[in-house]
Amino acid sequence: MSERDFDLAALRADQERTAGVARIQAALRPRGLGRLVCDCGAEISPARRAAYPGTDRCFDCASLGERRRRIA
Ligand SMILES: [Zn+2]
Repeated sequence: MSERDFDLAALRADQERTAGVARIQAALRPRGLGRLVCDCGAEISPARRAAYPGTDRCFDCASLGERRRRIA
């Protein structure tokens, strides 16, 4: 097996792992409601999830992110 074949096999295994994790996360996620808790640990309110279906950040993180994007 050449080095290139090995790299491709490792890459494929990695992609399959990532896809598996994504499938589990999708299964755990309430359908169409996005995440219940932000990466920062804050709860994403039902109102926010209703207003932004599929959002995965709380209001603070989302507005911080937008501000950061605007500066950058
Ligand atoms: Zn947050």
